Amino acid sequence: MEPAAARPTLPPWLKVKLPTGPRVARLKDASRSRGLATVCEEARCPNLAECWGGGTATFMIMGEVCTRGCRFCSVDTALRPPLPDPEEPAKLALTLKEMAVEYAVLTTVCRDDLPDQGAGHLASCIRAVKDANPAMRIEMLLQDFRGERKLLETVMDARPDVVAHNVECVERLTATVRDAKAGYRQSLEVLRHSKIYQPGTPTKTSLMLGLGETEEEVLTALDDIREAGTDIITMGQYLRPTGSRHHLPVHSFVHPDEFARFGELARARGFLFVASGPFVRSSYRAAELFLKGRLEAKDAA
Ligand code: SF4
Repeated sequence: MEPAAARPTLPPWLKVKLPTGPRVARLKDASRSRGLATVCEEARCPNLAECWGGGTATFMIMGEVCTRGCRFCSVDTALRPPLPDPEEPAKLALTLKEMAVEYAVLTTVCRDDLPDQGAGHLASCIRAVKDANPAMRIEMLLQDFRGERKLLETVMDARPDVVAHNVECVERLTATVRDAKAGYRQSLEVLRHSKIYQPGTPTKTSLMLGLGETEEEVLTALDDIREAGTDIITMGQYLRPTGSRHHLPVHSFVHPDEFARFGELARARGFLFVASGPFVRSSYRAAELFLKGRLEAKDAA
């Protein structure tokens, strides 16, 4: 067996205690008992207590095995993962109701093996959650469907409140960081078509920094993403999954001041909301609070 990779020394701003407490334990039990996976737990997210305590949770739906193998991602890979659980929409709707979540982020693996790449199942999950929890906001963090617009539209027809798709990294690094079926331009087209198809639905994306990108490349990515009509951007530090030798090493730990500067540069490009910091993840409480407030204001108007 290959020895585990040595843990890199983390800079002081990246050292935090993982969250615990009775509410966190209760929410973990509620999701585990139905075989559902929260990304918050799987990724040992340091923002978990803040999000769950504030009524936000992120669930990974359609299984925990992906047909792709991005080099930053700790999700398991297989050519033919098990079929999606037909009971998942109902289980998810009930679990989110019990958790009294106000804002749910649903994310998913890629299912290149399924005829519709899982679009129908994702739409069923969104509809079931909305039927059971009419006041709940749903952000759907979806895959690229290899550029098939009809599949993207199938999911959007279920009316998620926010559509997210992650560009993940700058264009030059995409072939190294992401699976070969993914593409920087393909991801921009997902964001662009989402906005064209439903102009009133906010769109959101995320970039990881610390993978070896230059400042100029980050600024170009911000321009490209904004030009695709994207409303919200989050930027955070890439961290290699613990103990892994198979994932990309961290190229650099970006200082919080640098994140703040990139945040300002993004705001200057006209994004509605920007979150940029070492612990910012694609699902991030501050961005979700902003979106919730905006959706409520829109409903009231
Ligand atoms: S497509 Fe998404 S879930 Fe699949 S390996 Fe890449 S990042 Fe992970």
